Amino acid sequence: MALPRMQAALALNSIHGRSLLPYSVENLQENPLEQLFIGGRWMAALDGRSLPVINPADGQAFDQIARGAAAEVDMAVKAARSALDGAWGKLTATERGRLLIKLGNSVLDHHAELAALEARDTGKPMTTARNDITVLARYFEFYGSAADKLHGEVIPFLNGHHAVLMREPLGVTGHIIPWNYPAQMLGRTIAPALAAGNAVVLKPAEDTSLSALRVAELATEVGFPDGSINVVTGLGEEAGAALAGHPGIDFISFTGSNEVGTLVQQAAARNAVKCVLELGGKSPQILFEDADIERAVPIIVRAIVQNAGQTCTAGSRLLVQHSIYDRVVEQVAAAYAKVRVGTPAMDLDCGPVMNPAQQARVNRYIAAAKAAGIPLLAEGHIAEGVSPTGHWVTPTFFGPVPRDAQLACEEVFGPVLAAFPFKDEADAIALANGTPYGLLAAVWTENGSRQTRVAKAVKAGQLFINCYGAGGGVELPFGGTKRSGHGREKGFLALEEMSTTKTVIQYHG
Ligand code: NAD
Repeated sequence: MALPRMQAALALNSIHGRSLLPYSVENLQENPLEQLFIGGRWMAALDGRSLPVINPADGQAFDQIARGAAAEVDMAVKAARSALDGAWGKLTATERGRLLIKLGNSVLDHHAELAALEARDTGKPMTTARNDITVLARYFEFYGSAADKLHGEVIPFLNGHHAVLMREPLGVTGHIIPWNYPAQMLGRTIAPALAAGNAVVLKPAEDTSLSALRVAELATEVGFPDGSINVVTGLGEEAGAALAGHPGIDFISFTGSNEVGTLVQQAAARNAVKCVLELGGKSPQILFEDADIERAVPIIVRAIVQNAGQTCTAGSRLLVQHSIYDRVVEQVAAAYAKVRVGTPAMDLDCGPVMNPAQQARVNRYIAAAKAAGIPLLAEGHIAEGVSPTGHWVTPTFFGPVPRDAQLACEEVFGPVLAAFPFKDEADAIALANGTPYGLLAAVWTENGSRQTRVAKAVKAGQLFINCYGAGGGVELPFGGTKRSGHGREKGFLALEEMSTTKTVIQYHG
């Protein structure tokens, strides 16, 4: 494909506090993935500016993306509106579903390529990246199959009247996603929106935009009409803010930090636009004295180490009943000490964190806990031979952590686990609910009545009993309570979130 070559030189000296390395576009091939995808066409940012793509495993730039901003967002919103008024809006639900299923199949056909792209972009181990691409395909399959099962209702009403509840698309939907699971996040948010008949504008995270651009390319190949899917890459405070505040959108889904989520909600509110917020978490794993410890320990370690702890649903708090505290902590420490960190190709337990700002943030929490004298229970290992310029952090396990410590209530977003002993069920529930967050929780006990009591009492959008499920589970409605956000994605509830109803009342005599 002959594409206009991007001539943009790097215009920034730093992004989000990270220094950028000198970056040359000399050897880059013409590549649609370095451009914006608007109205079915690839285009450079209007002012030609670009951003480097950094490999977290060595800190080096290996590609570039276009730095879209308000003008390009405006073009994308208009293109989405035209798609709704044109070919995309005329498709039946079955036809939309077929396209989504085709896209899911295309993702599977390109599985190895997409996994390699995602691993390079995020630094995550190849096995994790492969899993993410499988989940991405599942979103398109699930919502493709669901598209023509979303329907209205007939409402019994007065004699001589016929009342129906129609289910309709919202219109143009905006989607802003973070960098931790770029492929999963894009599937999670755009698949239900498209199934429900909306036209989407996606703003991926500036650190990790490549999978979104490649999926847009695949979507064109399988036949998505121009403008049904638009991708505007760029900085959050430019492209992201422009999308959240655009008067032409009808809905915004935001996944990311609490600070930015609040800004997005404020911007949406100025246009009275509905907003779903998927924010942070400080999720507890609650172990009672009758728990199956052997089964629980590897799952507990994985739930925090996975993706280098950069998972909103990371099980970052380990709450253990006094009587088994020493035994559990000893076993978790032994497993933690074996955790290894390395490059995607090494395919170990986890990779580097995303960027130097995140590396500094995680290391600050670790240093503060050490300085406060919180006992260090175990540390994992960074593999030999990794690049010294990669964004490495050492997985660290602390406990017992004082209940008023930073580690007890703030989201680290790194591979740092904090252990807390508790006395009884009431104490466990108070501790579990003792943070501003309410995203996920797990309770480990063989006592069925206790399982139900704790499941009812703990504030969370999802609660697991004798298991834990960060990521995946496309069928399972997901979202936060308290400061973890509001609204639901995944499962059929996402289709309701991303559609609206119209009540039509007819007098027929
Ligand atoms: P972030 O809030 O910094 O960025 C998220 C997205 O928002 C990015 O695309 C960014 O470009 C954009 N953005 C930044 N500033 C913006 C602005 N002013 N206006 C509009 N958009 C803007 O988050 P992050 O650092 O990428 O991700 C980490 C956070 O995301 C963590 O807190 C984590 O818990 C949360 N998260 C939540 C979920 C969930 O489903 N609940 C999933 C993944 C991550």
